[in-house]
Amino acid sequence: MEISSDQLDVLYSEEALQERILELGKKIEEDYRDKDLHVICVLKGSFLFLADLVRAIRHDRLSVDFLGLSSYGNETKSSGVVRMTQDLTIPIEGKHVLIIEDIIDTGLTMHYLLENLRTRLPKSIEICTLLHKPANTEKPVDMKYIGFTIPNKFVIGYGLDYAECFRNLPYIGVVRQS
Ligand code: 5GP
Repeated sequence: MEISSDQLDVLYSEEALQERILELGKKIEEDYRDKDLHVICVLKGSFLFLADLVRAIRHDRLSVDFLGLSSYGNETKSSGVVRMTQDLTIPIEGKHVLIIEDIIDTGLTMHYLLENLRTRLPKSIEICTLLHKPANTEKPVDMKYIGFTIPNKFVIGYGLDYAECFRNLPYIGVVRQS
């Protein structure tokens, strides 16, 4: 199905996203005040969220790394079969790790990632997701920081794609039902 940005309803405006991200950043800043913080951005969907979130965290010992995951499936439904497309560049053993994710839907991707990262012996591991869609949960995961809990709709923009496009939208939208 072809879609255009004219067919999208705004779910979270640019302003609403930035306001919530500032709140999350302040909370993370407080929680990690006395610890080094190693942030892992799950590509591709989290790149904008990471960029805004880390700028909302005042912390002198914050480091960043990237990891690529891709889950097989069609344009709007994940199959739960996850593939690592890019691995970390920095070892996480002994580090306080915070995973930055765009959306947790079934939880299968995050479950896979947690199992993988735990074998590398981080000191602690927590999750910060911009969006959580609880309706489809198959594998519950503990999320310390959640931006917004959303209804069971396919969302696009602010890093989230539709067939690899629309990641550049500064807001999050849903396709209007006509
Ligand atoms: P999971 O179902 O494993 O929790 O999520 C797998 C992946 O599916 C997410 O990381 C995200 O890339 C994608 N995904 C899940 N729900 C949505 C959605 O509403 N919109 C978009 N663009 N991607 C989604």
